[in-house]
Amino acid sequence: MGFSTTAIHAGNEPDTATGAVSVPIYQTSTYAQESLGKHKGFEYARTQNPTRSALERNIAALENAKFGYAFASGMSAIDAVLKLVKSGDHVILGDNTYGGTYRLFAKILVNYGVEFDLVDTSDVNLVEAAFRPNSKMVFVETPTNPVMSVTDLAAISKLAHANGAKVVCDNTFMSPYFQRPIEHGVDIVVHSTTKYLNGHSDSVGGFVALNDEQDAEWIKFVQNSVGAILSPFDSFLVLRGTKTLAIRMEAHDRNGRIVANFLAEHPKVQKVYYPGLSGHPQHELASRQQSGFGGMVSFETGGLDNAKTVLENVKLCTLGESLGGVETLISHPATMTHASVPEETRSKLGITDGLIRISVGIEDVEDIIADLDQALG
Ligand SMILES: *Cc1c(COP(=O)(O)O)cnc(C)c1O
Repeated sequence: MGFSTTAIHAGNEPDTATGAVSVPIYQTSTYAQESLGKHKGFEYARTQNPTRSALERNIAALENAKFGYAFASGMSAIDAVLKLVKSGDHVILGDNTYGGTYRLFAKILVNYGVEFDLVDTSDVNLVEAAFRPNSKMVFVETPTNPVMSVTDLAAISKLAHANGAKVVCDNTFMSPYFQRPIEHGVDIVVHSTTKYLNGHSDSVGGFVALNDEQDAEWIKFVQNSVGAILSPFDSFLVLRGTKTLAIRMEAHDRNGRIVANFLAEHPKVQKVYYPGLSGHPQHELASRQQSGFGGMVSFETGGLDNAKTVLENVKLCTLGESLGGVETLISHPATMTHASVPEETRSKLGITDGLIRISVGIEDVEDIIADLDQALG
């Protein structure tokens, strides 16, 4: 079955009670039991909810995974996956992952004896050199935020498996429409559904997709034990969002390419970070691993004053954190999303004061270009 057919039908079977074509929002905390120990498979809504399980079947199918679990946020999904590691275990963490992921390791997991090293995972040799006898997991994001560095998922997976470690990939930027990490050998995929999967900037959520039955049982156990579940209403919103994922991603990609090319030719722009440009250091890998390049574009304006001028003069592009919605969002990583990353690390990664990130929306692209052009002018 094709991607769009799966997106529209997986988990979306007509409701068995009424025939409702759209999966209802089962806004209930508990379920009536017929007699002691006899029920319809639903006991309490932290443990099971039909709207949530519809979404779980849906996104698992899109990621080509056997199992899927929906969480209250991308961070709670990532936290659940990190409950697969124990005190004394070592994790190889991409050096340019989402700031919240870094914070989870640096400020919380270290208190529980989890060791980690930050590694530029776009370089397979550096990953190889980082393995220790206690390395149990490699956690990567590709492309990264905001400098769009690309990691070779097949190469990293092969290496990790040879060293007895699992690979986790945060697939938020590409969505399963453009990249399915499990098909490249990755063990576990995580998402912030807040971004492209929901796609309308009106819900916060997270997702874990995987094939290993034992790990899936554990993730499900964590989901129920900790309780950071996605609500029925948010599950409904994301389920509604994924029905149009394919056409939205096509539009983000089309506009993203046009905006990246426009910026690359603009005299006031010093550098553009977009894997779809032939000058991107991993353009060839990105073309192989992803079926599109998406709508995330970053560019260097040369300094804080220049960045400020652009950010304060855009009219259509909305200044704000987050990404992946239908509307174009523009942000300043150094003071917004990456403010908690130490300055030294920021400059090493290329997150300068002059860097601007755009989540290119699906408006008419001429309007986005005109807005950027007048702000840059
Ligand atoms: C937003 C984001 C997260 C965190 O997700 P929340 O839903 O905000 O908790 C994790 N990874 C990436 C790549 C993100 O963009």
